[in-house]
Formats: sequence, C-alpha cells, structure tokens
Amino acid sequence: MNAQRGTPPDAAEQGARLGRYARALLSWYDAHRRLLPWRLDASPYRVWVSEIMLQQTRIEAVLPYFDRFMLALPTVEALAACGEDTLLKLWEGLGYYSRVRNLQKAARRLVQEFGGEIPRDYEALLSLPGIGEYTAGAVASISFGLPVPAVDGNVMRVLARLTASERDVLLPASKRWFTAVAAAMLPHDAPGAFNQAIMELGETVCLPNAEPRCSACPLAEACLARREGTARRLPVRSPKKARRVEQRTVFVCISREKEPRVLLHRRADKGLLAGLWELPNTEGWLSPGEAAARAVQQGLPASAAEPFGEGKHIFSHIEWHMRGFLIETPRVELAGDYRWVSGEELAGLYALPSAFRAFSSRLPALLYKERGLERL
Ligand code: SF4
Repeated sequence: MNAQRGTPPDAAEQGARLGRYARALLSWYDAHRRLLPWRLDASPYRVWVSEIMLQQTRIEAVLPYFDRFMLALPTVEALAACGEDTLLKLWEGLGYYSRVRNLQKAARRLVQEFGGEIPRDYEALLSLPGIGEYTAGAVASISFGLPVPAVDGNVMRVLARLTASERDVLLPASKRWFTAVAAAMLPHDAPGAFNQAIMELGETVCLPNAEPRCSACPLAEACLARREGTARRLPVRSPKKARRVEQRTVFVCISREKEPRVLLHRRADKGLLAGLWELPNTEGWLSPGEAAARAVQQGLPASAAEPFGEGKHIFSHIEWHMRGFLIETPRVELAGDYRWVSGEELAGLYALPSAFRAFSSRLPALLYKERGLERL
C-alpha cells in the first residue's frame, strides 16, 4: 500500500515502538468489543455498507438503518438494481445522500466489471465511487485480512495522543503521517482485528473533547501524551471556518381535494441535497403576505399563508434558519419538478431530507386527519 512506500523515519520509529503494544490492544479488543451486526458477519458487502453508513454518523443511529438496508438489499446485485426513490427512502434520515448514491454507482460497477464480487484488492477497492483510503483499508483488512491500515478521524485522535503529535489532524500531510504510523504498527497476522481495535479504543476509551479515559486504556503505558499531560489538549485541529447562515422560507402547500396532498419539489442534480425531494423553499425570510404572493407567482391560487413554525438545520458549511408557512390551495399542476404527494406516498416512497424535519414531522397530522387517520 502507498502509505508504506517512503514512510517518514519518525513515523516508522513511532509505529515500531507502538507495534510492541499491538498484542495488548488485541487482547483488550477481544474482551471489550461491542457485538455489532457487521462484526458478527463481516462479509465484504456488509462491512462496506456499514462503513459508508458510519461516516459522520453515530453507531446507535446506524443500527436500525443497517438491518433494514440489509433486509431490503442483501446483495451487491440487489443494490445495483434498486430504484432511486426506494434507495433514498432506505437512507431517509441518515443524511449525506451522496453516500448512498455513490454506494449504488459502485455496486453497478461491481456488477459490470467484477461479476458482482467485491475485489480482494486495496487499489481496486479505492477505484470505486465513494470509497476512500479509510473505507478501502477497512474492507480490505476486516473482510479479506489484507495488511493495510484504516485511518479516520477517530483513529488519528488515538495516534495523535499515543505519539504526542502536535500535527494538525485536518491537514492531508498529517493524515499521511498518521497512516504511516498505523501501517508500521499493524500486526500482519491480524490486520482486521487491529484496525477495529484501534477504532473501538477511540470510540469507547480515548474519547474526543478532552475526555480520554486513560485509566481504562490498554495502551496507557505506551502513550506519550498521557506521560506528558497533553492528552486532553490533543489532537490539534486548525479552527474551522464559521458556517454561513442562510435564512430560508419553507412552503408547506396542502391541497385538500379528495385525498389531502402536499406539494414536493425535486432539487437540481447538483449542489446541496442534489436531486432530492424537498418542501418548496426560497432564500430569505418572507412575511405572510409576501409568502402568499410568492405562491400565487408560482401558479398556486393561494389566498393566505399561515405561519407554520421555525426550523434550523446545520450542514457542514451552511446553516439554514427556516420559517415555514402553511398554504392551503386548490391542486394545480405546476411546471417543473413538482409533485402532489399523498400521506401514503410520503411514508412509503418519497425521502425528505432531515433538514425539513421541523415541518415534515407535522405533515401526517395534515395529510391524515381528514380521514380520521391521525398519526402523530
Ligand atoms: Fe488515549 Fe489516554 Fe489511552 Fe493515551 S492513555 S491512548 S490518551 S486513552
């Protein structure tokens, strides 16, 4: 693997020093590891899907999604053949939808080029959409026993403390250095267990936000930051740029003819929440009069807009501060990517991003109450 070529001498030295404690870490992992579904059956497909789900998402949040996803799409072929709306619905609430889109793109490549098999090869894994060094390392080591490291932010935190490194973990050069340390530490007879052990240590003992539980750590003796009293301060991270705050007005348009329906809009295929269904919205905070006028401008014969609460959603670089309006209107078909959707369709087919949860969580009451099917 690339990380081992031209390993910086200080990384090789640190890796060799820490490698002497690898057995202690593996014994600790044997005794303390959590029994997670992708560990009980570590087939490459399951490990791959779990690693993609776990990006920026806590294990507890992933668990119900993982089981449901595996039940619906148990193989690479099933994932490759799944319709887009069904796929997005299975992911609804997990966020970062480009992850599941890339998962499917990769599954389609696997079907076309690898006969539906996940390749037992680090570089081939790395060539698939949505698979970076960490995920390729995790699948290669855990499912295939290949001796490659898997270094994410969690593992970097542990390594930064073990080596008392002042490197900024957000810099690519630091990631390369920590990957080289991990590669030099890695026991070649148990790479998968080792990678999972160091991840588990970061998730349960060497915790972020100045909370390391050093008294419970199997690597305490080897840890330079503990010795130097810097563990709570490490790792070093350059301050993030402040997020841009965007004010938005969200339109909850309901038509009550026959069966109640809500108006959804499909976003453009590029940019934030690309290609996803959303509640129609616009930049800026509008007054009730302006909101009703905007609806009329769009072609909806609305007479009033009633305030419908507020919501806030934090994306990685932007924060949306939203004000909602409820607009009751006759059902008019609009030009563009708009669709009137029933309660059943919303529950079973259309995935609404969690950014709209403050408003979408109230939709069942609006869409079902007329028929005595109040679901809130
Ligand atoms: Fe982390 Fe403390 Fe263990 Fe060092 S001794 S690796 S700081 S938990």
